[in-house]
Amino acid sequence: MVMDAPARLQRAWEVLDSVPDPELPAVSLCDLGIVRDVRLAGAALQLLLTPTYSGCPATEVIAHDVLAAIDAAGLGPAQVQWQRAPAWSTDWITERGLARLHAHGIAPPGAVAAGNAVSLHFMPRAAALACPRCGSRQTQCLSAFGATACKALYRCLDCREPFEHFKPL
Ligand SMILES: [Zn+2]
Repeated sequence: MVMDAPARLQRAWEVLDSVPDPELPAVSLCDLGIVRDVRLAGAALQLLLTPTYSGCPATEVIAHDVLAAIDAAGLGPAQVQWQRAPAWSTDWITERGLARLHAHGIAPPGAVAAGNAVSLHFMPRAAALACPRCGSRQTQCLSAFGATACKALYRCLDCREPFEHFKPL
Protein backbone atom coordinates (compact mmCIF):
# COMPACT_ATOMS: atom_id res chain seq x y z
CA MET A 1 0.00 0.00 0.00
CA VAL A 2 1.45 3.33 -1.06
CA MET A 3 0.52 6.19 1.22
CA ASP A 4 1.78 9.73 1.14
CA ALA A 5 3.32 11.21 4.28
CA PRO A 6 0.34 13.29 5.49
CA ALA A 7 -2.02 10.34 5.03
CA ARG A 8 0.35 8.04 6.89
CA LEU A 9 0.65 10.49 9.79
CA GLN A 10 -3.09 10.98 9.98
CA ARG A 11 -3.70 7.25 9.88
CA ALA A 12 -1.11 6.79 12.61
CA TRP A 13 -3.00 9.22 14.87
CA GLU A 14 -6.21 7.28 14.23
CA VAL A 15 -4.50 4.00 15.09
CA LEU A 16 -2.96 5.46 18.26
CA ASP A 17 -6.35 6.78 19.26
CA SER A 18 -7.60 3.19 19.27
CA VAL A 19 -4.86 1.87 21.57
CA PRO A 20 -6.22 1.59 25.12
CA ASP A 21 -4.17 2.55 28.11
CA PRO A 22 -3.01 -0.72 29.74
CA GLU A 23 -4.08 0.42 33.19
CA LEU A 24 -7.17 2.33 32.15
CA PRO A 25 -8.64 0.39 29.23
CA ALA A 26 -11.63 2.74 29.18
CA VAL A 27 -9.49 5.45 27.63
CA SER A 28 -7.10 5.56 24.70
CA LEU A 29 -3.53 6.77 24.83
CA CYS A 30 -4.68 9.85 22.92
CA ASP A 31 -7.46 10.45 25.46
CA LEU A 32 -4.84 10.56 28.17
CA GLY A 33 -2.60 12.93 26.24
CA ILE A 34 0.24 10.40 26.27
CA VAL A 35 0.75 10.72 22.50
CA ARG A 36 2.50 14.05 22.05
CA ASP A 37 3.48 13.95 18.42
CA VAL A 38 3.83 11.72 15.40
CA ARG A 39 6.57 12.58 12.91
CA LEU A 40 8.42 11.10 10.03
CA ALA A 41 12.13 10.53 10.51
CA GLY A 42 13.30 9.26 7.15
CA ALA A 43 11.18 6.25 6.35
CA ALA A 44 10.24 5.60 9.98
CA LEU A 45 7.38 6.96 12.01
CA GLN A 46 8.61 8.57 15.17
CA LEU A 47 6.08 8.37 17.98
CA LEU A 48 6.67 10.86 20.76
CA LEU A 49 5.07 9.65 23.96
CA THR A 50 5.12 11.06 27.45
CA PRO A 51 4.71 8.57 30.31
CA THR A 52 2.01 9.38 32.85
CA TYR A 53 3.15 8.74 36.38
CA SER A 54 6.85 7.95 36.43
CA GLY A 55 6.12 5.13 38.88
CA CYS A 56 3.75 3.40 36.49
CA PRO A 57 5.29 0.19 35.17
CA ALA A 58 3.13 0.53 32.07
CA THR A 59 5.58 2.36 29.84
CA GLU A 60 7.05 -0.79 28.29
CA VAL A 61 3.59 -2.20 27.72
CA ILE A 62 2.53 1.05 26.09
CA ALA A 63 5.53 1.10 23.75
CA HIS A 64 4.86 -2.50 22.79
CA ASP A 65 1.12 -1.96 22.21
CA VAL A 66 1.71 1.17 20.17
CA LEU A 67 4.28 -0.43 17.89
CA ALA A 68 2.12 -3.53 17.46
CA ALA A 69 -0.89 -1.41 16.47
CA ILE A 70 1.13 0.67 14.00
CA ASP A 71 2.61 -2.49 12.55
CA ALA A 72 -0.78 -4.20 12.27
CA ALA A 73 -2.10 -1.19 10.36
CA GLY A 74 0.78 -1.48 7.91
CA LEU A 75 2.17 1.91 8.90
CA GLY A 76 5.61 0.81 10.04
CA PRO A 77 8.50 0.99 10.42
CA ALA A 78 8.08 3.02 13.60
CA GLN A 79 9.93 3.82 16.76
CA VAL A 80 8.85 5.12 20.14
CA GLN A 81 10.60 8.04 21.72
CA TRP A 82 9.82 8.88 25.33
CA GLN A 83 9.62 12.56 25.96
CA ARG A 84 9.85 13.19 29.69
CA ALA A 85 9.86 16.97 29.73
CA PRO A 86 7.52 18.65 30.19
CA ALA A 87 6.13 16.08 32.61
CA TRP A 88 2.73 14.63 31.90
CA SER A 89 -0.18 16.24 33.68
CA THR A 90 -3.74 15.13 34.20
CA ASP A 91 -4.60 18.46 32.56
CA TRP A 92 -3.61 16.78 29.28
CA ILE A 93 -6.51 14.34 29.46
CA THR A 94 -8.98 15.28 26.74
CA GLU A 95 -12.63 16.13 27.33
CA ARG A 96 -13.53 12.79 25.77
CA GLY A 97 -11.04 11.06 28.07
CA LEU A 98 -12.56 12.68 31.15
CA ALA A 99 -16.04 11.70 30.01
CA ARG A 100 -14.92 8.12 29.42
CA LEU A 101 -13.30 7.89 32.86
CA HIS A 102 -16.48 9.18 34.44
CA ALA A 103 -18.61 6.74 32.44
CA HIS A 104 -16.49 3.91 33.80
CA GLY A 105 -17.01 4.91 37.40
CA ILE A 106 -13.67 6.62 37.85
CA ALA A 107 -13.89 10.13 39.27
CA PRO A 108 -11.80 12.16 36.84
CA PRO A 109 -9.12 14.49 38.10
CA GLY A 110 -9.97 18.13 38.45
CA ALA A 111 -7.72 20.74 36.97
CA VAL A 112 -4.39 20.95 38.70
CA ALA A 113 -4.45 24.68 38.13
CA ALA A 114 -7.57 24.90 40.28
CA GLY A 115 -5.64 23.85 43.35
CA ASN A 116 -6.75 20.26 43.21
CA ALA A 117 -3.17 19.09 43.74
CA VAL A 118 -3.87 18.81 47.45
CA SER A 119 -5.33 15.34 46.85
CA LEU A 120 -1.87 14.14 45.87
CA HIS A 121 -1.30 14.03 49.60
CA PHE A 122 -3.24 11.97 52.04
CA MET A 123 -5.81 14.69 52.62
CA PRO A 124 -9.13 13.51 51.24
CA ARG A 125 -11.16 16.14 49.47
CA ALA A 126 -14.35 14.50 50.62
CA ALA A 127 -16.46 17.61 50.27
CA ALA A 128 -15.51 18.25 46.66
CA LEU A 129 -15.14 14.85 45.03
CA ALA A 130 -18.43 13.68 43.54
CA CYS A 131 -19.41 10.03 43.34
CA PRO A 132 -19.32 9.08 39.65
CA ARG A 133 -22.35 6.83 40.12
CA CYS A 134 -24.88 8.94 41.98
CA GLY A 135 -23.24 12.36 42.00
CA SER A 136 -23.26 12.62 45.78
CA ARG A 137 -20.47 14.65 47.30
CA GLN A 138 -20.67 12.68 50.52
CA THR A 139 -17.57 10.69 49.74
CA GLN A 140 -14.70 9.42 51.77
CA CYS A 141 -11.12 8.60 50.85
CA LEU A 142 -10.39 4.98 51.80
CA SER A 143 -6.88 4.76 50.48
CA ALA A 144 -4.60 7.23 48.76
CA PHE A 145 -3.55 4.41 46.45
CA GLY A 146 -6.02 2.33 44.50
CA ALA A 147 -5.29 -0.49 42.07
CA THR A 148 -2.46 1.60 40.68
CA ALA A 149 -0.46 4.48 42.10
CA CYS A 150 -2.34 6.77 39.74
CA LYS A 151 -5.61 6.28 41.48
CA ALA A 152 -7.04 6.70 44.95
CA LEU A 153 -9.86 4.61 46.36
CA TYR A 154 -12.96 6.39 47.58
CA ARG A 155 -16.31 5.33 48.91
CA CYS A 156 -19.62 7.04 48.42
CA LEU A 157 -21.46 7.46 51.70
CA ASP A 158 -24.83 7.69 49.94
CA CYS A 159 -24.87 4.80 47.48
CA ARG A 160 -22.18 2.93 49.45
CA GLU A 161 -20.24 2.09 46.30
CA PRO A 162 -16.48 2.33 46.27
CA PHE A 163 -14.97 4.16 43.32
CA GLU A 164 -11.59 5.14 42.05
CA HIS A 165 -10.36 8.66 41.65
CA PHE A 166 -7.75 9.44 39.05
CA LYS A 167 -5.48 11.70 41.05
CA PRO A 168 -4.60 15.05 39.53
CA LEU A 169 -0.95 15.56 38.78
ZN1 LIG B 1 -22.74 7.37 45.10
